[in-house]
Amino acid sequence: MDERKRVYLFGDSEAEGRSDMKNLLGGKGANLAEMNLVGVPVPPGFTITTEVCTEYNTIGKEKAVELMRAEVENGIKHVEKIMSSKFGDKENPLLVSVRSGARVSMPGMMDTVLNLGLNDDAVEGIAKKSGNERFAWDSYRRFVQMYGDVVLGMKPESKEDIDPFEAIMEEQKEKRGIELDTDFTVEDLKELVAKFKAAVTKQTGKNFPNNPWDQLWGAVMAVFDSWNTDRAIYYRTMNKIPGEWGTAVNVQAMVYGNMGTNSGTGVAFTRDAGTGEDIFNGEYLIDAQGEDVVAGVRTPQQITLEGSKRWAVLANVSEEERAEKYPSLEELMPKVYKELDIIQQKLEDHYNDMQDLEFTIQDGKLWLLQTRNGKRTGAAMVRMAIEMLEQGRIDEKEAVMRVEPNKLDELLHPVFDKDAMKEAKVLTKGLPASPGAATGQLVFFADECAKYKDAILARIETSPEDLEGMNIANGILTARGGMTSHAAVVARGMGKCCVSGAGELKIDYKARILTVGNETFNEGDWVSLNGSTGELYKGSIDTIDPELSGDFGKLMELADKYSRMYVRTNADTPHDSQVARDFGAKGIGLCRTEHMFFEGEKIVAMREMILAEDLEGREAALDRLLPIQQKDFEGIFEAMHDLPVTVRLLDPPLHEFVPHDEKGQQEMADVMGVTVDVIKQKVEDLSEFNPMLGHRGCRLGNTYPEITVMQTRAIIGAAIALKKRGINAHPEIMIPLTGTLAEMKMQEDIVRDTIAKVFEETGETIEHLVGTMIEIPRAALTADKIAESAEFFSFGTNDLTQMTFGYSRDDAGKFLPIYIEKGILKNDPFEVLDQEGVGQLVEMAVERGRQTRPDIKLGICGEHGGEPSSVEFCHRTGLDYVSCSPFRVPIARLAAAQATIR
Ligand code: PEP
Ligand code: MG
Repeated sequence: MDERKRVYLFGDSEAEGRSDMKNLLGGKGANLAEMNLVGVPVPPGFTITTEVCTEYNTIGKEKAVELMRAEVENGIKHVEKIMSSKFGDKENPLLVSVRSGARVSMPGMMDTVLNLGLNDDAVEGIAKKSGNERFAWDSYRRFVQMYGDVVLGMKPESKEDIDPFEAIMEEQKEKRGIELDTDFTVEDLKELVAKFKAAVTKQTGKNFPNNPWDQLWGAVMAVFDSWNTDRAIYYRTMNKIPGEWGTAVNVQAMVYGNMGTNSGTGVAFTRDAGTGEDIFNGEYLIDAQGEDVVAGVRTPQQITLEGSKRWAVLANVSEEERAEKYPSLEELMPKVYKELDIIQQKLEDHYNDMQDLEFTIQDGKLWLLQTRNGKRTGAAMVRMAIEMLEQGRIDEKEAVMRVEPNKLDELLHPVFDKDAMKEAKVLTKGLPASPGAATGQLVFFADECAKYKDAILARIETSPEDLEGMNIANGILTARGGMTSHAAVVARGMGKCCVSGAGELKIDYKARILTVGNETFNEGDWVSLNGSTGELYKGSIDTIDPELSGDFGKLMELADKYSRMYVRTNADTPHDSQVARDFGAKGIGLCRTEHMFFEGEKIVAMREMILAEDLEGREAALDRLLPIQQKDFEGIFEAMHDLPVTVRLLDPPLHEFVPHDEKGQQEMADVMGVTVDVIKQKVEDLSEFNPMLGHRGCRLGNTYPEITVMQTRAIIGAAIALKKRGINAHPEIMIPLTGTLAEMKMQEDIVRDTIAKVFEETGETIEHLVGTMIEIPRAALTADKIAESAEFFSFGTNDLTQMTFGYSRDDAGKFLPIYIEKGILKNDPFEVLDQEGVGQLVEMAVERGRQTRPDIKLGICGEHGGEPSSVEFCHRTGLDYVSCSPFRVPIARLAAAQATIR
């Protein structure tokens, strides 16, 4: 038998694990061990390793259980000893919780079972031991409900139905004329347990397990199985978490927050997860257990007095009402609060990062159930990194590493337009759960969010099943739940605007209507959300670009200080160039000239050129285009003054410039003064079976050299015109889609001859470069040859991916999602560079290009230039820069710095 250790014990300030064993013990298990080691009070327990989960998934349930059985039994003995109680005992029963815990936290994604070990005997033991019969039966009721849901699969039958156990509870409340769960008597609870069990037998055909060991093994298996539920797989795919990692299982002695008014449970953060402010905060509920705080069924109270006062202002609650109905923990249990405050500081100091804590107060004694590095918004991530640097907790490099590049996206997202806001009508206010602004059409079911381009998902409360819809929606609105509700936590993780706990909302799922005050909204009606204030508005509201904080600027400065590569942008208008420059772009890496040809008179001249029968006709049309195109370049060069601008010559096939519909063809015929048949004929002539591999790129310039001539004249002419105005332009002329040296050389000759002519005509000169895109595999393979002609390479990884995989860029959407779902591909290769395949071509081209021309300038301008893992690859491969769309420039700057630091 193999000697692998499968179970790690902890308790009583001792532990077999440590915080750096996350891969084996999961984040939660590793931190539970660590908390014991630093002297934080944690209920004793043990962790079954993530390796067992993988084992379970490969060798199957039975064999996996046999391999771990002895160690798990020993684990229970260990807990029994510390807790002086016995699993399944009638007099003094031990109850445990069973929780999942992957390497990285996946909030709410996997399952938890509490109060395990309860049965008809143990409940009597608990009643005697606690001297509280109601508490014992309430725990039993919760256990049967949770176990039934998680392990035995008791779910609502359809999405319009409510939970089967909730339905039984509602029935009981109605029968007894009571409103709250806390109004149930012992007799009610006994009746509920019996009804719950009967419902289990009826719906699943199996009896509820009475033996605690059967219960334990069932729960352990359910946690392992929860690793592979649809929602967990979706979350893993979204967050790029490999399936092989598996989850650990934590079994821990139960402590109770529901033992009366001297008990409670809560969630706390050592800093504000929404804004990053260095302030202890969180929520708790008295006489409640585990999930109650996040489930959003009762309104949680704030932990600190200051937090409580801030909450009251936002929730429109008077100070009197607050102090009476919703006092802070600081006011209600000052001693416990003090201990908690010391522990939170201790844990933040120990981990040197913002902690997200779960705690329970059992009869006045504080227990910590979990600590982990807290999820946070992009804004909070930046602020915390900079403040922790300024507080001397971390160094500059660590501050740069603390921010996930993709999270910056949130900071760059729009907010509501101030003027549009003047007209806006506030319908109600909830909690500002996740910042940002969103506008869209109301949808009530997560699986229907895709119905609208802009959806606002409105729910009474959300659950992990809603994840996919939440990701699609522009914003999330819930009627119930606090700042740590599922909706709030998940939305912040996604960087999605969310308003939670808007208590005035009434949502009727069956009728698909939302009511607030005397206004009623149907599915499809427009509303807007402000996730930073918690306001809900009627109708759609315009949004504008955000302003960036000083901390953001500091972070970006640090990023530039540490990164070897620099970042350019893909832009083809002066406006986009300016936006990118403001975001720190150090030039343009790709100006796609074709985008310029579609506006106004340019398209007319372009079409005249296409229609022309001979060289003379084409040159006449190009003559008309020249000054207009030159003006476009002047605008861009001016916006990018002093910085390099790579202008790519015409790339797409000519058919893209002519209309394909009847009406458009008639209009073109009228403008051109020819019959519609002439146009139709031309369109037919231009059509290709596979235009992506057809008459495009340098093939156009080599068959119609006059186009290359015109564009070169426009580029150099613009630079000279600016020079005369004292503005420095640094044009780099880029030939698209070269595959052979001869192709490149022919284009180079045309460009250089034209430039020489322009210099002679004007008596001026301009520094410039002539280079090429590397986007055809043959170009990468023969890069040493191509570098004889090209002064720079820019990797067009969009086309290079298309041609390396043989996946058409236009048609891959039909099968890529299925490929990713089936695990054939880990990522969409058009989004994340395929380092294994396409990457080899890039590496080869870099090496061969440098052999011929050691100082060759190297960059990337495919979409991958703004994707962090691809940026890291570019760094490793030795590129000089990456180029990406303006809004991704900060992301690329940070990713480039992190790549250098790594
Ligand atoms: C590329 O192919 O990567 C590229 C940047 O060019 P385009 O996307 O315009 O084909
Ligand atoms: Mg291309």
